[in-house]
Order: sequence, then C-alpha cells, then structure tokens
Amino acid sequence: MAGYVIDETREACEMQAKYLELINACRELKPLTSDEEQGILRAYTMAREAHAGTRRRSGEPYIFHPLAVALIAVKEVGLGPTAVIAALLHDVVEDTDITIDELRMVFGDRVAEIVDGVTKIDDVMLLQQSESKQAENYRKILLSMCHDAYVIFLKLCDRLHNMRTLDSMKDTKKLIIASETSYLYIPLAHRLGLYSIKTELEELVMRYTNPDKYAEIEAKIAATAGTGEKLEECLVAPVRKMLDDAGYQYTLKTRVKSVYSCWKKIENKHVAFEEIYDLYAMRIVLKGIPREHEKEECFKVYAMISGTFDPNPKRFRDWITHPKNNGYESLQTTVMTPIGQWVEVQIRTERMDTIAEKGMAAHFLYKEAHPEEQIDNNPVEEWLAQIRTSLEQSDKSALDLVEEFKEALYTKEIYLFTPQGKSIILPSRSTVLDFAYAIHTDLGDHCIGAKVNARVVSRNERLHTGDQVQVLTTENTTPTEEWLGECQTPHAREAIKLALRSQRKEFFDEGKHRLAEYLKKLRIRNNPQNLGQLKRFLSQPSDIDLYYDLAVGNISEHQVAECFGKARPEPRFFFHETQTTPFLLDREYENYPTEMAPCCKPVQGDQVVGIVQGDRIMVHRTGCKVAMDEMANHENHVVRAKWRPGEQLSLLTGIGLTAIDRKGLLQEITRHISDELDLNMRAITLEASEGVARGMIMLYVNDVENLNGLITKLELIDGVEEVHRI
Ligand code: MN
Repeated sequence: MAGYVIDETREACEMQAKYLELINACRELKPLTSDEEQGILRAYTMAREAHAGTRRRSGEPYIFHPLAVALIAVKEVGLGPTAVIAALLHDVVEDTDITIDELRMVFGDRVAEIVDGVTKIDDVMLLQQSESKQAENYRKILLSMCHDAYVIFLKLCDRLHNMRTLDSMKDTKKLIIASETSYLYIPLAHRLGLYSIKTELEELVMRYTNPDKYAEIEAKIAATAGTGEKLEECLVAPVRKMLDDAGYQYTLKTRVKSVYSCWKKIENKHVAFEEIYDLYAMRIVLKGIPREHEKEECFKVYAMISGTFDPNPKRFRDWITHPKNNGYESLQTTVMTPIGQWVEVQIRTERMDTIAEKGMAAHFLYKEAHPEEQIDNNPVEEWLAQIRTSLEQSDKSALDLVEEFKEALYTKEIYLFTPQGKSIILPSRSTVLDFAYAIHTDLGDHCIGAKVNARVVSRNERLHTGDQVQVLTTENTTPTEEWLGECQTPHAREAIKLALRSQRKEFFDEGKHRLAEYLKKLRIRNNPQNLGQLKRFLSQPSDIDLYYDLAVGNISEHQVAECFGKARPEPRFFFHETQTTPFLLDREYENYPTEMAPCCKPVQGDQVVGIVQGDRIMVHRTGCKVAMDEMANHENHVVRAKWRPGEQLSLLTGIGLTAIDRKGLLQEITRHISDELDLNMRAITLEASEGVARGMIMLYVNDVENLNGLITKLELIDGVEEVHRI
C-alpha cells in the first residue's frame, strides 16, 4: 500500500463518480427500464456495503474493482444490465458472507447463476499443483465457463482489470497471473473476437513477462511518435480532403502497431524493427456503397491516394477480387509519406469491415441488443455446446483436453448456410460431415456427401465461408471407423464414436455365444468373476468391446485359454521370406516390393507391367500412358508382372460416368454400388450443368470382373449415358 493515502471523503466522491459513469454508460448503450436502473443501484449498494472495510493491495477500497469490471463490461464489451449487475457482485460470494441464495432472492436466477459460475472459477484457480492437477483445474474452469457465455465475458473483464492493476501484486503472483492470462484468457478473447481486449492483454502480459524487450520496442516506437502527429498533417488531413471533395461518406481511423505485435513480427518474420511496413496504418471504411459498386469505388479511392502518395508496388493486395478463405475482403497498399514514413492503407466498405471485424461476440451482443428479433442461431452458444461435449464425454486425459481446447481457440470459424439460408458457424477446415452432424445426428449418421453451391462433393470435402450446403443422405449408409478421419469437430467425432459403439452392440450375442463355447471346451466356469479376469487379461474396457472382438475374431480361443492357464503351446512354423507382393515378377526382381500405380490403378485380372522405380516396382496397366512413356524411354526398367493366382485383394479404382441429371440419380448409383454388388465406395462426386451430370466414383474392387459387372449395372440405370474406367 506504499504511496497510497487513505482519504475516505475523497474515496466516497470517487465511488459516486464511478457509479454515475457506469449508469451513464449503460444508458448510452440502451435506454434503461426503471427495474434495470434499480437493479444496478441495488447491486452497487450491496457490493459496496459487503466489501466495506476491505482494500485492494494497491490500497484503494475494494469496491473500485467490481466497479471497474462493470465499466469494462459495458464500455469495452458492450454488455447490458444483467451483466453489469453480475459484474458488480462478482466477488461478493467469494469474499464476503453473502450467499448465492441471497443473490437469487434479490436479483433472480440469472444473476445468481452468472455469479456462481464466476465464483467457481476463482475457487479452482486457487489450487496450484502438479501439471496434470493443473490441467484438471483448467478443465474444470473451462467447464464452468462453458456453461454460460456471460461467465466467459465477465471473467475476461475481471482479468483485464486485474492485469491493468498488476503492479501492486507480489512479483511471483504477477508472473502466475500473467502466464494464466496468456495461457487461457488471450486465446479466449481472440476466439470471441474481442480484439481490442486481446491486444491490451497481450501488451500487458509482455510488459510483465518480457520487460526488457518491451521497453526496447516501446522506445523505438516512441522515437517515431513525432511522426504520428506529423502524419495527421501530411497524410490524414489531405486524404480526408480528397474523400470529402469526392463526396464520400466514410470513417477514417489510424493506428500504431502495438509493442507486442511488433515484437511478434520481428520474431516470426525475422525482420528488423525498421522493416515493419505497417507500424502505422490508416483504414478507410466507405459508407453507403451499393454492393455492385463496391469494388469500383474502392479502386477509385485507391487511385486517388496512390496518385498523391507513392505506393510500394510490392505491397499491394487485392483481397476484393480474391477474398481470403475466411471471407476477408479489402484493398491494401503501403504508401510513402512526405516525412519518409511508410503507412499501410486499407480501403474497404462497411460490409467488408463487418466481415473482417465481427467476431462471435458481435453476434452474441447483437442478439442481446435486439431481443425482439428472432435469430435461432447463436454461434457463441453453439460453440460452447461443442466445447462442453468434448470436455465432458471424452476419455482423454485432462492435459490433452486442455491442449485440444486451446488449439481449437486458434482455428477461425467459417460461415456456412443451409438451403433455407440458416447460418451455421463451424471451425475452419470443417468438412461436409461436420456440417451434417452440426445440424442433426441423423443427418450425420447417414451422410454420403453434399451439394455445395449446387456441386456434388464427398463427405470429407472441406467447406469454405459462404458455402451453401445441402447434405445428401442414404438410409443404408452408417458410420465406420474411417469417418473419424473425415471430420474435425469434436461434436461429429463423438457422434460417430457413439454410432460405432451401438454397432458394436449388434455383435454382442454372437461374441457371447462364442465365449460360452470356448469356456465349455476349456472346462472353465462361465461366471462374472471369470469374465472379469478375462477382460483384465485382454485389457478390454467393457463387455461390449470384449464380445465384439470375440465375434470378429480379434480374440482367439488360444488367448482365452492363456488367460486361465490352459493354453497348450502353439505349434511353431518357420516361414521363409513372407510374400510381399501379389505379383509374379521376373526372377531377378522377385523380392522387390510392388506398388499399384496411382495413374491407372490396376485391379486383379488387368494386364499389367512393372516399372522399376528406385527400390520398388510400380505396377501399371499395360495400356497406361505413363507406363508407355516410361517403357519408351527406359527399356531396361521394364519388369514382366503377372497377378499371382488366388490372391484376394481389394484395390482402389475409379469410374467416370455421364448421365442426364435427374432427382435421385446419385442415390440410385450409390445404392447399386453399396447394396447390390457389395462394393466399398470411397468417394463419389457428381457435377451437373445444363441438365448433364458428370460423375466420378472411387471405390474398392476385387478384380476386373467385379469392376466390369458394376460398369454394366451402372449403364442400365435410367438416364446413364456412358460409363468408363478412369
Ligand atoms: Mn474480481
């Protein structure tokens, strides 16, 4: 408390002033009802009295902290009265005698719930133990937070104020708080799109964890600070005049790059401070431009600016003609100013600015501010639900979960649409399968692909912002292990695992029956004790898993016998070199490994030829163009190859087809492949234009008869014009 002079009269005045500032900020955001106004006053009074007599480490009365947190909530995040009330009360349950039940009686369920969530997080944070224990704590924190978006927002406001006032803390405590902030709160702020809070937290963390570097870069920026004001004169004012004269409506903002992001650029891009081109940046957002004139107007403004200020031709970016994957659009250039300072200039319209700047929080807050508007998709809530699923259901260690969670915080979301225009937000790199599961488990479980912007794509196709996705399903498609590799959201993965599990149950009876037989032969009693012993011996987590492995032959009679000490030694055979290839090859290449050429994908029965490629033999179909070129140029690389008789192999191959497009065509094709011929399809695409559909099917076949049989069947489908091997 060194340096702090206690003066209760002055403090009371300051408190009152802060409170008025808070109420005014709330009113500015949205007119308050008298209930809301009273609620805020009551919360402030209760908190002030409950914390009376307690002071923060800095010396000031404790109530200044909840007041500051509430102010951040309104002014910097844009939260409404409920959040403000909860912010004022966020520490009373933990630090005073007031209970959650009392809060519930006075302020209702919602406020009590939020304060309860925030309090729980404080509880677990007090424990600082081993790494795995800490991970478990983080998992608990995440779980409490993820029950309620308000809790996350308030924790972020709380943390921001604590970071702003970190100076009064003990040094070790400073480091703990700073590292927690960078571990958890910065990624969260980033994920929610609270960019200015994120930037400030980054700056503060760096100031405490890397003070020397911080001071060094801060000094370098300060040395150019004069240019900040000069820039106003030599760049901003002339640009404003140009825009005004041309009659544009616009907003114009300038910014200096933060110390932290300068440092990141120096570290990651290995550039010197002097080489940072966007130390100063100016953003022009044009207002009221109709959609069809956006590009033209942005270029006009670019032309005006580059006519007066010399642009660096290497630093021109046109993200309007080719938007970034995440939907970002903008025109970017870097110009030289008369005082010798480069300045990055971004030109965009209001619409583009919204896409670039709106994080998930913006959607959430919009909904808050417009409760009368019906919007059924709430990305924050959906995101939280996804996280809860992965935190609650998974069997992974807490450490893995927390790492996974943090990774997920840095994946950007993509904005997708259903055919009805409902928007679905998923992490970037999400596939059709993720989308299907995000809508409904049933849709996911039977998904075979989708129509994306009217183009047919397979289940594992990655989606991009703006895609309109219509999921295609068939009744007899069900999840397999492979599907786990075709999706990336925890939600989809969990749903697939659940489906696989229930499939396993279908093997239950058969496995049970087999075990009974084995035990009878071995004269072992079929009772729960022995069953338990067997599960432990074979490391089977459950009956379902045990019976499944028995039914499909993963567990042999011999292994069961071993468990009960009744195994007879298995006869041993000695093999010479195991056969590595399904082909008979020229004698001198007999022992070479072979590989199916990806260009022509031979299947059993095809005429084939081998080509030596490094230490292996690539097997092509004899007519393959690639093989013919090779043979023409390297005669000595050719190896005679023949299919070894009797080998049963499943090989990937492709079929192309052309058909008159009609409803149900895709379904009929996939039905022929999967039911009638019992083939395993890997991917199918069908593209239709002007009534003609062109498709490609990748599938596993056993031999050439098999394949020709399928081609004949497909040719018979109504509307199919032509089918060929690829
Ligand atoms: Mn607090």
